[in-house]
Amino acid sequence: MPIINRISEFHKQMIEWRQDIHSHPELAYQEKRTAKKVAKLLKEFGVDEIHEGIGGTGVVGVIRNGKGPMVGLRADMDALPITEANKCDHASTHEGVMHACGHDGHTTMLLGAARYLAETRNFNGQVILIFQPAEEGFAGAKAMIEDGLFEKFPVDSIYGMHNMPGVAEGNLDVGPGPRMAAADNFEIKINGKGAHGAMPNESVDPIVCGSAVIQALQSLVSRNSDPKKTLVVSVTQFNSGHANNVIPDFASLAGTIRYFDKTTGDFVRKKFPKIVKDICEAFGAKADIDYKIGYPPTINDTNAAKFALETAKEIAGNKASDSQEPMMGSEDFSYFLQEKPGAYAWIGNGNSASLHNPSYDFNDELLPIGASFLSRIAEKTLGKN
Ligand SMILES: [Zn+2]
Ligand SMILES: [Zn+2]
Repeated sequence: MPIINRISEFHKQMIEWRQDIHSHPELAYQEKRTAKKVAKLLKEFGVDEIHEGIGGTGVVGVIRNGKGPMVGLRADMDALPITEANKCDHASTHEGVMHACGHDGHTTMLLGAARYLAETRNFNGQVILIFQPAEEGFAGAKAMIEDGLFEKFPVDSIYGMHNMPGVAEGNLDVGPGPRMAAADNFEIKINGKGAHGAMPNESVDPIVCGSAVIQALQSLVSRNSDPKKTLVVSVTQFNSGHANNVIPDFASLAGTIRYFDKTTGDFVRKKFPKIVKDICEAFGAKADIDYKIGYPPTINDTNAAKFALETAKEIAGNKASDSQEPMMGSEDFSYFLQEKPGAYAWIGNGNSASLHNPSYDFNDELLPIGASFLSRIAEKTLGKN
């Protein structure tokens, strides 16, 4: 079965929804208009229950047909603080805010599946439609879980999808195991002692100390981590000083740490502060460290990924695969996958600008493909083969 015919019939309307959401982008936890639109459309489709305000601005729809199992389908709704460079008719009308990650498209693909599933109900069980806020760094998935998402809707499995620029239009890729990395972030403030630039002996130079800290942190990857396991340590900010002839008081460093494996994350969180503190102490400086544990790794369940790949093959034929390498970006669908078995798929956006680029736009040709994929995931999980 390729794209579901009934879904193709309302492709035009899906494009209208998508472009309307695109031109009214909203930042994390401010997705009020988007959430209202989602709730209104779900009501029009005849979705049985609509719950608003879960985890802030999250929306959950329930389509019920009998008492079988429960499957979750998830889309994200938030936009980014980016000024859109596109001049198209549906370009952002919200100054400095843009759907540069395609969440407008993800939301629309799930709306398309909702419409089809509410109309046809060829399944036995419950489809839980999860429209989450704040994927872009503000853990909307976690907020929904903490707001009782899975107590109210105890899904047996959950599926999500993200578009991928630079991958052929409509390719579906879903494989088992790690798909995206965990992302921790850190800030370090090194307090030294300022002095005249010509009298370094009177200073505790935070720039020299900071440089040593940056060098030493690289040894987390090169000399501490199991070489068979992936780890990224990037110091991305180093700010200090204001004049040629002044050794400053302090320096600030910031950066990000990426990994897939829990034991790698555990050892970094132990070793990182020790390296920073001991180096600073050797230089006579003092370090304040703010280490923030971020999104966990996105790990697909083996069986769920296999099932999703079979379903992807139905829809996309030989354009379905499990060959894409895991990525070092992060994704808060990971929180759902910590609670429930499921899988996260990538759908090729074709030859577009990259994600988070001001010239990016979601490819509307994907809408019926993604909606069909999600619909079939639900139908097959809930007993229709
Ligand atoms: Zn993004
Ligand atoms: Zn995204």
